[in-house]
Amino acid sequence: MIEQVPGKVDMDKLVSLCKRRGFIFPSSEIYGGLSACYDYGPLGVELKNNVKKAWWKTVVQERDDMVGLDASILMHPQTWVASGHVEGFADPLVDCKQCRQRWRADQIKDGKCPTCGGELTEPRMFNLMFKTFVGPVEDEASVVYLRPETAQGIFVNFQNVLSSTRKKLPFGIAQMGKSFRNEITTGNFIFRMREFEQMEIEYFVKPGTDEGWFKQWVEARFNWYSDLGIKKENLRLRQHGKDELAHYARDCYDIEYLFPIGWSELEGIANRTDFDLKQHAKYSGKDLSYFDDETKEHFIPYVIEPSAGVDRSILAFLADSYDEEKDKEGLRVILRLHPALAPIKVAVLPLSRNEKLLPLSKEVYDSLRSCWMVQYDDAQSIGRRYRRQDEIGTPFCVTIDFQSLEDKQVTIRERDKMRQIRVPIEVLKPTLEAKLCGEPLDVLPPGGKKWLGFEAS
Ligand code: ATP
Repeated sequence: MIEQVPGKVDMDKLVSLCKRRGFIFPSSEIYGGLSACYDYGPLGVELKNNVKKAWWKTVVQERDDMVGLDASILMHPQTWVASGHVEGFADPLVDCKQCRQRWRADQIKDGKCPTCGGELTEPRMFNLMFKTFVGPVEDEASVVYLRPETAQGIFVNFQNVLSSTRKKLPFGIAQMGKSFRNEITTGNFIFRMREFEQMEIEYFVKPGTDEGWFKQWVEARFNWYSDLGIKKENLRLRQHGKDELAHYARDCYDIEYLFPIGWSELEGIANRTDFDLKQHAKYSGKDLSYFDDETKEHFIPYVIEPSAGVDRSILAFLADSYDEEKDKEGLRVILRLHPALAPIKVAVLPLSRNEKLLPLSKEVYDSLRSCWMVQYDDAQSIGRRYRRQDEIGTPFCVTIDFQSLEDKQVTIRERDKMRQIRVPIEVLKPTLEAKLCGEPLDVLPPGGKKWLGFEAS
């Protein structure tokens, strides 16, 4: 049963939109699905790529102090002994004696089964890592784990990155990719999955400067979500209490989002001190210290770790952008996605299927698709086609009509207020580029004019 926050979009509505329009499908659905695993469809994969691209742009491309990494999912098993995951990456599991359902003991409020009210067993610890084997022999010596986080791939490559890039502190390494956790309680769509993607940063700093950098990262990461359109009132910071902090962590904040299921973690930012590098130095026997040229000292850097989930971000972006408006044709469903995230940036729509419009419409379509993901749609009425694009979050539609054949101008219609401008085809591409980067619609290119919808705004 999915709980629902009043006033937020219904989770069922989101799930159904995602299925219907090809954002997200249950994994291996024809066989009945696999619990807590999902597949991203044609629009979903675009949205997911755009979320990852936006993160990479902010944390790697636009910063001098960050580099990227793509480590393998399977790692030497000692990695997980050193990191503490073999010993401690476990949740307390309880079973309902009546209906046999399993729960995480720390998520049970009154000691009874939330489904049937039945009595629960004593908690026992359950390790969340998926185990598998390398090579043909399935024995303890060949055990490896599917990584439960991407972070350890960064720590074990600290010296490789340092010596190959000659970076000086403070600097960070960013990585995104799949992680796997055999979660006990799942559900709530893509909020908690067994196979999911993370976007993680390990930012290495000189001890003593860590608190300042921690504050900067908390602020930078909060702003990333709001800059990409999430309403500030739906975001909040929650500092971890002393009882929640890992023994080595100095401080930790969660960025929480008001999901349809309530306030929940979107991203965690932790000051992990020198714990991870020290552990890997100890277990590998390798020197993972940093030599400071100026002070001529060797030391183990402290680490600030902003750790985000791709899928949870997608759920937040979808939930926050979902909107409905009543109009004379019924209900207009709109995904008010930031243009950087929208799966399709522009739709090219000939006014009708009349073959006179075809050559120019195709010419316009071909000229735009090398720049962005563009859709061509000539099926059904123009009104219905606009609605279809609104529902998948397409920021702009370009309409070619009979007048276009005469004056070589087309209409650009924006999603949010449905206002329209008319622009010469020869300036269509730079005009769309400017609008996708945030230029107001009423800034007109040479020869352009305001068209429909402006009176009402
Ligand atoms: P939770 O308390 O919700 O289990 P966590 O504190 O264990 O999460 P972290 O280990 O800090 O999560 O992971 C960092 C981020 O990875 C989370 O903020 C979340 O966005 C994402 N994440 C973690 N587990 C999952 C999961 N099972 N499914 C989807 N995303 C996840």
